[in-house]
Amino acid sequence: MESLEGTIRSKLPGSGTSIFAVMSGLANEYKAINLSQGFPDFPISEELTEKVHYYMKRGYNQYAPMPGIPKLRGAISKMFKKNHGVKYDPDTEITVTAGATQALYTAISAFVREGDEVIIFEPAYDSYAPAVTVNGGIVKYSKLQFPDFSPNWEEIPRMITNRTRMIIINTPQNPTGNVWTKEDMQQLEKLTKDTDIIVLSDEVYEHLIYDSLQHESACRFPELVKRTLITGSFGKTFHATGWKTGFVLAPERLMSEFRKVHQFVVFAANTPIQHALADYIGNEEHYKGLPRFYQQKRDFFAQRLQSSRFKLIPSYGTYFQLLEYSDISDEAEMDFAVRLIKEYKIASVPVSPFYHNKDDHKVLRFCFAKQEKTLKKAAEILCRI
Ligand code: PMP
Ligand code: GLN
Repeated sequence: MESLEGTIRSKLPGSGTSIFAVMSGLANEYKAINLSQGFPDFPISEELTEKVHYYMKRGYNQYAPMPGIPKLRGAISKMFKKNHGVKYDPDTEITVTAGATQALYTAISAFVREGDEVIIFEPAYDSYAPAVTVNGGIVKYSKLQFPDFSPNWEEIPRMITNRTRMIIINTPQNPTGNVWTKEDMQQLEKLTKDTDIIVLSDEVYEHLIYDSLQHESACRFPELVKRTLITGSFGKTFHATGWKTGFVLAPERLMSEFRKVHQFVVFAANTPIQHALADYIGNEEHYKGLPRFYQQKRDFFAQRLQSSRFKLIPSYGTYFQLLEYSDISDEAEMDFAVRLIKEYKIASVPVSPFYHNKDDHKVLRFCFAKQEKTLKKAAEILCRI
């Protein structure tokens, strides 16, 4: 086949394959326990599966309405009202998406223009910066402060210019497990008040938060809520990462722009899954227990690592645990992570790819969304290293 080589100028020349695909690929190749890419190794709710089946069998298999089925938008609205006391209008302020990744990309495309600056906190989830770059934006990075990964409120105000279009935040945070406090959110609120900066708040781990901490959703802050698009993911909440179904909440002024792009990126999300979720999230028992459920896993894994030479960096949310290994090796994170897969049959994700300059703190990320038997086996291996 004739090649176009030489005529294509990549829009993402610095991007290779996502670190999650690379590490999961290696885990499979070397038959390692896979605590790298974040996904549960236990089944999803039988009831939820039955519901999808039910709706498929009854013919709910054609395009859903562009913003999502009304019943699901209504159920999401009720969930946010109950959890945060804030009312989003299901007709004009909620859109169902094909996962949070699509929601994030669409939100960035809808608002970031050539030359606009976007502030991102790193280590950052891998999809934010490429989405900004593809849309002609310029990423400005603010480092979360090692080792607690708190935001640096002295530096952030100095990064704002008249070209700052968007600030992307993520709490609970992937990969660090850090959770923004009420004070952090108030700082952001103060900083963006009376500006035309848009906040994109990635809250996919909203229900995965521990030690009785409150998830400080951006919607709880009256000045922030006006300028913020919030993204959520049912994949995280209901252990079904392969379903790729999520949502966006935003005031109508922002949502109408979001939908203009959404309709051309995906048009609509998966129909039978939307119907099933609409029934399922109506019952808060289906998500209220998540902090306890995952905290137990976090603590189970941590307890079994007590005799290891890895140091635990506290995880307050998400299903990730960072382990620091400077007492074991001075290898670079990527090298060490690959060696653990090949020699010890345990897969993790190095944190350095979450930094644009590949900062290396000798820290690896382990996903604890696993059955106890998996975590037990993984901890036994880690204790031998
Ligand atoms: N944001 C963060 C921080 C994530 O960890 C993930 C999970 N991959 C996503 C967004 C994307 O979620 P989804 O799988 O619903 O696209
Ligand atoms: N969110 C998951 C993680 O952080 C996986 C994301 C992906 O595979 N793209 O591991």
